[in-house]
Order: sequence, then structure tokens, then C-alpha cells
Amino acid sequence: MTDPSKRTLTGYLLDRGPTRFRKSWSDNLCQVASDRTMRMTETSAAFIPAPMEGHGGYNRGSRVQAAGASKAVPLFAGAANTVPLADAQETIVIADYGSSEGRNSLSPIAAAIRALRDRVGLERAISVVHTDLPDNDFQTLFQTLANDPDSYLRGDPAVFASAIGRSFYQQLLPSCSVTLGWSSWAVQWLSRTPSSIPDHVQVAYSHNAAARAAFTKQSADDWRTFLMSRGRELRPGGTLVVQTMALHDNGDFGYRGVLEAMCAALKSLCDEGFISAEELRRMTIPTVGRSRADIAAPFSPNGRFADLVMEHVEVFDGDDRIWREFERNRDAAEFGAQWAIFSRASVFPTLARSLKGGPTDPRAPAFFGKLEAGMAARLSMAPGQMDIPLASVVLVKETAQARSTQASADSAANTGP
Ligand code: SAH
Repeated sequence: MTDPSKRTLTGYLLDRGPTRFRKSWSDNLCQVASDRTMRMTETSAAFIPAPMEGHGGYNRGSRVQAAGASKAVPLFAGAANTVPLADAQETIVIADYGSSEGRNSLSPIAAAIRALRDRVGLERAISVVHTDLPDNDFQTLFQTLANDPDSYLRGDPAVFASAIGRSFYQQLLPSCSVTLGWSSWAVQWLSRTPSSIPDHVQVAYSHNAAARAAFTKQSADDWRTFLMSRGRELRPGGTLVVQTMALHDNGDFGYRGVLEAMCAALKSLCDEGFISAEELRRMTIPTVGRSRADIAAPFSPNGRFADLVMEHVEVFDGDDRIWREFERNRDAAEFGAQWAIFSRASVFPTLARSLKGGPTDPRAPAFFGKLEAGMAARLSMAPGQMDIPLASVVLVKETAQARSTQASADSAANTGP
């Protein structure tokens, strides 16, 4: 007999799905999918990712993310130690791209401020600009900055925090104004859903070639757009540290058990008639894991892109805190509950956009509750460690001097024998 944990997700769905589901989320869908691929080129709200769960939901449900990003914090502090600073009393600008409700930004930003204070003293003004999508819960962000005991604002009257509600797939800040940029767990979110995924919610587990190709292209385009925008905003010598979801070198996206539970729970919501087959079909998570090669691609062949040089790229395993807790307490229900909360806080709002009435559909609160309960119950039946492939990247904007040296080297190479 096959080991259930080794089955592919699609295999899992097809094996376990009742006939109605099997038809709707496999065979028939291939037909429907090609039409929908066309329609998804529209910029309809259903195909734009939603921000994380509001009212502090993300702050409370993102401990896995906090653990994952902690590995990139020393890179950010290191950048703060060495980044060139303007001589004058110019304000030092730190930008945070995709802050959500701010809890997980406190530690990296505080680490950078500590390093900067060692260099410039207590008087120099530091401006911290958090950015996220317009619908993000900025109220919770500001409350977190004001009230959290770990807020970097505590005891430092020369730090000034503000926020911008616009997509980071455009320039958000004036050219050459940002000294340090930070982004964690954010650029895996695409600017839009480029195509339906007929056999899954997550493209990494889809066997549909057209969907995979559309996501691959969107992922490459969005990464370039993100880099070009940051390339304009950074000061020469300024540094951007990005931590994001990744693919292991063997192509693995991870989170297998969580996604199996999500698909199975969604399917049973459809079977019980709570959501329609059409709504289920629309439900897609527009996130991608990028491989080391995907991250490096824009920098080929000469190591530069959009005035940025990639100084460091690393793919590593995120710490599965939920599994470690389970190993300590053997509490399977708690294990299931924690991964369900993780999913609720990060992706349920995007799934809910596919309800017929959108995010304000009257079923949305019950959809959250039922899906969370369905996932928790399934996950608690067979606790297992999740793979959490993550990448950290350090990008430095070239100085004018480095650019002109490079330009001479390029022209010498072009006029060679
Ligand atoms: N940085 C935090 C939060 C990550 S959650 C952490 O490390 O835990 C991902 C955040 O990225 C969400 O708040 C989401 O709204 C935001 N996001 C996704 N796409 C975005 C875009 N195009 N522009 C700005 N923010 C975006």
C-alpha cells in the first residue's frame, strides 16, 4: 500500500475526492480553465491578493514567519553597520516592504536602528516607512508601533514611523532616498493571479502546464518590477534585504501537509454545499516559491540589474516552530490548530475573495471558521514536520563610481579582439 504521506497532492485529491468533486476539480475543469485563463487577465479584485487577516489576526498568527525571518535579521543588522551614510544631518530612511500589522517588523527594524545608533549617535533622525497594500490593517500597525513592548519607537524620540498604502510593484518613495530596505514574507505574493489552477490552490502542486507557465512568467515579471522600483528608491550604496518563500534545489515548495489539509477542507465545504463548485474553482493562492536560479535570473549575465548588485543569496530551511512544540507537548490538537491559524491569518482572506459576494459576502466569517476547523481537525490526525524553504537575498545599489568602472569594463570587453 502507498504511504499516504508520499502521495502527491493531486493524487490525494483524486483518491479521496467523491465523484462530484473529482469531476469538478479535475476533468471538467481543464475545459473551463482555458476560458478562465483568458478572463483572469482582467484586473478584477478577485484576482489581486488580499492583505493578511485584520484586527491583529496576522500579528497573532504569524509565529512561523517570525521564526523564518529571524535568520535574515543579522544580514539586515550587518547592512546597517556598513551601509554608506550621507555626511550631513540628513534623515536616514528605512523602508519596510509588506509590513502587514507590524509585529514581525519590530525585531529587524530595531536591530538596524541599534546598529545605526552606534554609528551616528542618538540625535540623528531616522525615518521608518512601512508599506503594504491599501486594504492592509494599518490601524493595527500603528497600534502595534505605539503599544507593543518591543516597539522600536520606545525610548528613541529621534525615530519617526509612517506608512504607505500602495503596492510595492511600483515606486513608492522618492528616487535615491532609502538607505536600508527590508522585506520579509512578502514578495512571494504576485501582483495578480495570472491564471486559474484547475487542480489545486497552489501552483507548485499543480500538474497543469498552462497554469504553471503563467505563474512562472508572472513570478519572473513581478520580481523584476519589484527590483526596478527598489533600484530607483535606494540611495547609491543603499542595501535591501529580502526574505521570501523559496524552492529547495530539488524544486520542493514545502507545506505539503498544510496544503493537503486545506484542499481537503475546501472540498468538503463544497460537498456540503457551503461553497459552490464555481467558487471552489476560483480559489487560488497567488504565491510562488522562487528558486535560487529564479532569484538570480535578472542579474545574469553581468551580476547587475536595475543598478543593483546581488551580494548574497541563500536558500535555507525555516524553523518549524509548530512541529518543535508538538515534539515537546505531543498535543496533536494544538498542532492542527496552530497550522490552521497560520493559514487563516495569511491566505484565507485571499481565498474569501473568490466567494460570490467577494470579501463582504455574508458567508465570509463562517467560511473562515469552517475552513479553519476543517484544517485543524485534519492536521491533528497526522502531525508531521513541514518543509519551509526560504530564501534571503542582499542587494546593494551601485555607487556612481562603481557604475562608471563597470561601464568602462563593459566597453573594453565589447571592443576586445
Ligand atoms: N513582513 C511581515 C508580513 C508579511 S505578510 C512578516 O514578515 O511577517 C505579507 C504582506 O505582504 C501582507 O501584509 C500583504 O498585504 C503584503 N503584500 C502582498 N502583496 C503586496 C504588494 N503588491 N504590495 C505591498 N504589500 C504587499
